Amino acid sequence: MSQGKVFLIGAGPGDPGLITVRARELIERADVIVYDYLANPQLLDWAGEGVEKLYVGKRSGMHSIPQDEIEELLVDRAGKGLNVVRLKGGDPFVFGRGGEEVSELQVDKIPFEIVPGVTAALAAAAYVGIPLSHREYSSSITFLTGHENPEKQTLSIDFSRYGKTEGTLCLYMGLGQLPRILKELKEGGMPGGRPVGIIQWATLNRQKSVYGTVDTILSEMEAARIGTPAMIIIGEVVAHRTRTEWFEGRPLFGKRIVVTRAREQAGQLSKLLTDQGAEVLELPFISVQAHFDEKLVTEVFAGIAVYEWIIFTSTNGVKQFFDLFYRAYDDIRCLGPMRIAAVGAATAREIEKHKLKVDLIPKQANADALAEELIENEGVESVQILVVTGNQNRQSLVQRLESDEGRAIVDTLPLYKTAKTDLTKDPSAERFRIEGADAVLFTSASTVKSFVDQHAALKLAPDARHPVFGSIGPLTSKTLKDLKLPVAFESPEASLHHFVVETISYLSNPSK
Ligand code: SAH
Repeated sequence: MSQGKVFLIGAGPGDPGLITVRARELIERADVIVYDYLANPQLLDWAGEGVEKLYVGKRSGMHSIPQDEIEELLVDRAGKGLNVVRLKGGDPFVFGRGGEEVSELQVDKIPFEIVPGVTAALAAAAYVGIPLSHREYSSSITFLTGHENPEKQTLSIDFSRYGKTEGTLCLYMGLGQLPRILKELKEGGMPGGRPVGIIQWATLNRQKSVYGTVDTILSEMEAARIGTPAMIIIGEVVAHRTRTEWFEGRPLFGKRIVVTRAREQAGQLSKLLTDQGAEVLELPFISVQAHFDEKLVTEVFAGIAVYEWIIFTSTNGVKQFFDLFYRAYDDIRCLGPMRIAAVGAATAREIEKHKLKVDLIPKQANADALAEELIENEGVESVQILVVTGNQNRQSLVQRLESDEGRAIVDTLPLYKTAKTDLTKDPSAERFRIEGADAVLFTSASTVKSFVDQHAALKLAPDARHPVFGSIGPLTSKTLKDLKLPVAFESPEASLHHFVVETISYLSNPSK
């Protein structure tokens, strides 16, 4: 059996975007992933199917797996010929016991690689705008640990040695021992007025920071209810941090927002919200699954050249259509010279990914508007049209095109079905039940119906935040009102961009 390898990888400080390209590549190729408390579990989404994922960090109320057992685990899996990714928060060689793990691998002659990561001190400083070095105020940066061994909880460092430094001190794992550390720093000559910043959960949506001086920081910290994990930065540079808080100051920072779309589509809205600082919970009320009649698909593809128009009503339809098409043909010209119509800009964009121009996008993003524009502007009498769709009501589109006004010859090709998801086991739904949210955003009438439908699976815990409801437009609002859900705000235009702007405006001034 070929020898496996262990990749000791820095997972960065929390924000998945701060991991290295190399690390991501290795996660994608891993057979086994061993990760701990500070490595963001979202990173595991990049792993392939069936990868063994082993959590070795602390669980609430329980001890973490002892270090020697972790080392044994790495040796065992690599010995079996597997590629093992060992993911550690920040950088593996900065207070991460990476050195110990590597020694053990060497004893057992297991090949390894080391991938550095963004360590917490650098990340925390950047995310609150503290320049760690500064030509005028600091020409050295020291990384210190508040306790060398988390299990021992004792200090062997003499902090008074650092009291005289003019440079910047970055203290890891220092919260528990902070009173004693500050006392020793002062005994060593550090002025009580030296600025101190503490940053908890740096780079994540729950980041919190507090500032003071060596003399005042303990009471400031208590008032701000800062807890672990936190980075403590001591030095004149703390007072020279950027005046704008580029991270914590973003408009939706600290807000939790629920997006109610099928998983496959939620991406774009979530991204817009996350860019504004929100934490997004994607609740997959509806799941989209491929669902089609094999024989019908073959027939349609065989005769595809007869259609003058092909109509796509959704991005799912486009994706599914081209998946099947490329399975059958390896030349896009097999599609023939037909013209293409799409309901909605998102659907059109999905088609354009295949370097195909969309000839018609109705001004209003609905199927009736499309039928009307086709009939009025193009004339469809005796024209053969293919409608690619899901299992839901595109009847009116077909009827309209075939009616006396249109007289087209229409075939429908249903390619997927939408169904209700089981939210009782969904991790995002679990977060929602326990912690609630600031807002739930509805992007269509059907998402409202699903929300009400799933009511039982979404019952909020007593002290969860109670969300307001936002709607993308009049039709969605009407459905909300019909179902007795109060509409807190409505997007002035039916676009994701306007919806996000309206969400920001409402949440920053709800009484308006
Ligand atoms: N190897 C890690 C450090 C592990 S020690 C690294 O390079 O960052 C754990 C300590 O790191 C925590 O107690 C805390 O002091 C710090 N830390 C890790 N992630 C952090 C974060 N997101 N925000 C603030 N401090 C963090």
